[in-house]
Amino acid sequence: LSEKLQEAFQSLKGKGKITEEDVNLALRQVRTALLEADVNFMVAKDFVKSIKEKALGEEVFGSLNPAQTVIKIVNDELTALLGGTQSRIMISSKPPTIIMLVGLQGAGKTTTAGKLAVYLRKQGKHPMLVAADVYRPAAITQLQVVGKQIDIPVFADETPGANPVDIARRAVEQSTHMLKDVVIIDTAGRLAIDEVLMDELSNIKAAVRPHEILLVVDSMIGQDAVTTAQTFNEKLGVDGVILTKLDGDARGGAALSIKAVTGLPIKFTGVSEKMDGFDVFYPDRMASRILDLGDFKTLIENVQGAIDEEEAREMAKKMAKNNFTLDDFLKQMNQVRKLGPLQNIIGMLPGMGQIKDQLKDLDLNSKEVRRIEAIITSMTAAERENPNILNGSRRKRIALGSGTQVQDVNRLLKQFEEARKMMKRMQGLRGGKGGFPGMP
Ligand code: GDP
Ligand code: MG
Repeated sequence: LSEKLQEAFQSLKGKGKITEEDVNLALRQVRTALLEADVNFMVAKDFVKSIKEKALGEEVFGSLNPAQTVIKIVNDELTALLGGTQSRIMISSKPPTIIMLVGLQGAGKTTTAGKLAVYLRKQGKHPMLVAADVYRPAAITQLQVVGKQIDIPVFADETPGANPVDIARRAVEQSTHMLKDVVIIDTAGRLAIDEVLMDELSNIKAAVRPHEILLVVDSMIGQDAVTTAQTFNEKLGVDGVILTKLDGDARGGAALSIKAVTGLPIKFTGVSEKMDGFDVFYPDRMASRILDLGDFKTLIENVQGAIDEEEAREMAKKMAKNNFTLDDFLKQMNQVRKLGPLQNIIGMLPGMGQIKDQLKDLDLNSKEVRRIEAIITSMTAAERENPNILNGSRRKRIALGSGTQVQDVNRLLKQFEEARKMMKRMQGLRGGKGGFPGMP
């Protein structure tokens, strides 16, 4: 998919102006990208239409080329549509703040209740959890296990036939005695929306008047997200959405569909099964995820800020050709140091998400870079061109000359090999054509 996109953008390269034909071609691909990310059909259609109007009116932007300009417009528009700025939880001036989590069964309500409690505790709040799902046999125990794990009290009533409305009401009453200022209510779900459930949730709502009703949605449900969000919003009234399981392969189309159709803000995301797998929602990151372009805009900005563009272009060419030498490695390390950790940079490149994880051990600080510099500059030109000739005695000489140990030299050579392998892989991903889009 991202290949198709890049192809489309590639075809825009090297032209001075964006023609209607260019835009049409690119936008057909964008539309496909959206549909493949499970964005609702109508939403995708509207989005593409709005882009077309913008792109045609616009001049090629600043120092960007036409391809980058289209990327920028697509990204900006998508970000705006996803919500522009991030949303937060409304904290009541009169405690307790009451938050009710609702959603289909398996969406992640119980897990998210715990995550939200941890998140709010970090903000200095004193949350408690309420087990208002009394139907699934293990539901109460599940929340209690979560509570124990994160050391947050759980209000529950295990009496058979206990009424969830009653439980919620009593929990809120108890909260002040327990010195808790946030009450998070975990409710029951169903596999599909049904009237009985909606009535029960409405009754809980009427009884405790929550400040926030947050709809928990599994990002994997794709197109269905729209109906789910619409129905919950109509029947119950929802203040915001938490999108879970974004650590899976869901591309985030649900986020765009929900936002576009219901207007509900996406407030948080769930990114793992663990209690710290929780994040506020960043529209710009979601936009990139949906387009699978990596954080391209940030990359462009960073590259312009820190790297001589010519040098970057040269480097990209070399990466593609795979005649990447130790000299290049050193140059790259120095650039990377200016930009931040290597993983961050790689993560910004389109399609590089997986490689990023493999680079965790290649983290660099400036001390490390200085050592690398000393080692590489202690090599002869021939050695730098062809590290294969570095036998034991040469390595010893280099260590001595650079004031390091032979192990340091060995480690550097290993890192270089890693980097070189990575370049090869990048070349594979780029179809061997070389260069990143926008870096001809
Ligand atoms: P509920 O029925 O809505 O209460 O859903 P649960 O909280 O019981 O979650 C259902 C399943 O989804 C459990 O196995 C959770 O561990 C898992 N889960 C919830 N949120 C996330 C998430 O953000 N990422 C991943 N990978 N799993 C999640
Ligand atoms: Mg549950």
